[in-house]
Amino acid sequence: MSKKVLVLADVRRQKLRNVTLEMIGAATRIADGGEVGVVILGKDIKALADGLGNYGVDVSYVVDSAELEHYNPSAYRKAFMEAVRDFEPSAILMAHSAVGRDFGPVMAARLGAGQVSDIVDIEGEGDDLRFVRPIYAGKAFTKVRIKQGTTIVTVRPNNLTPAEAGVGKAGTVKELAVSFEQPDLATMVREIVEKANTGVDLTEAKVIVSGGRGVKDASGFEPLKELADLLGAAVGASRGACDAGYCDYSLQIGQTGKVVTPDLYIACGISGAIQHLAGMSSSKVIVAINKDPEAPIFQVADYGIVGDLFEVVPMLTSEFKNVLA
Ligand code: FAD
Repeated sequence: MSKKVLVLADVRRQKLRNVTLEMIGAATRIADGGEVGVVILGKDIKALADGLGNYGVDVSYVVDSAELEHYNPSAYRKAFMEAVRDFEPSAILMAHSAVGRDFGPVMAARLGAGQVSDIVDIEGEGDDLRFVRPIYAGKAFTKVRIKQGTTIVTVRPNNLTPAEAGVGKAGTVKELAVSFEQPDLATMVREIVEKANTGVDLTEAKVIVSGGRGVKDASGFEPLKELADLLGAAVGASRGACDAGYCDYSLQIGQTGKVVTPDLYIACGISGAIQHLAGMSSSKVIVAINKDPEAPIFQVADYGIVGDLFEVVPMLTSEFKNVLA
């Protein structure tokens, strides 16, 4: 039976993040011939709705307001509910990002909906869809089927196939005028101060070069940064490296850090503790560099290099320079 599926666009710095197209692709599949809607919330974001019809979106809702410049659960809920009332979705998708992790339960409580969090795949078709999500820190997967009622699904970035252009739907854009007052603005983010790093967003990066306690000190990240710059990669870290003060916690990957799914993850001087694997084991290709041949990271690695990272990483950089020249 065809359904109506509503996607909350993942917007950062007035741009749609890649996961938005991944969610539109998933929504089209879930809708099974039904309608796909997208809600775009933010400030100065009207233009983001242009052309979404070509990706299969039937209706885009835009709420453009200074109060939505940064995520605010009450204001988001008010704006999103306007779209929900108009569209009447049976499923809602949002990214499993900092926003989606908070806002999913907000909307589930508001709508009395069931929630499936952090999905990495969808199996089956039609009414027999199963959402695949990791459990036990990525050691196993569970498949969840929703029998009835509205469903809210949060989608892990970089896992589902993005919608492709060329669908050719006209797509309607509806601008919703929403006014915010107290208590909608009881909590407000005034400013976001971003930490300086390589500039590539870790959760969207296709390649990540990550360092652990094996880098020895903050300067030990330099060869990793050089390799990352060459590959257009983001730099990540284990909690061991963050705890030791070698890098900022914003780089931490793992159970209590960021969850990433790049095409290529290069782990340098990282032992492979279960809490680290929870954040990166679904990477498509994992390369581990560690001088201990017994390090657990080698159990999840596709390619393992037993050696000193201070010799191996510069060698890789120089080889890549030759290849990319
Ligand atoms: P180590 O375990 O000390 O490993 C360093 C590795 O570097 C070793 O394998 C060593 O052989 C290798 N090495 C040393 N020198 C070199 C060299 N010159 N060349 C090559 N290899 C070298 N950890 C996370 O990463 N992310 C999390 O989100 C996270 N959350 C946690 C949550 C909880 C509740 C707890 C209890 C722990 C959590 N941890 C997390 C910590 C985790 O258990 C590990 O302590 C941590 O991942 C270890 O970091 P590491 O691999 O860098 O350090």
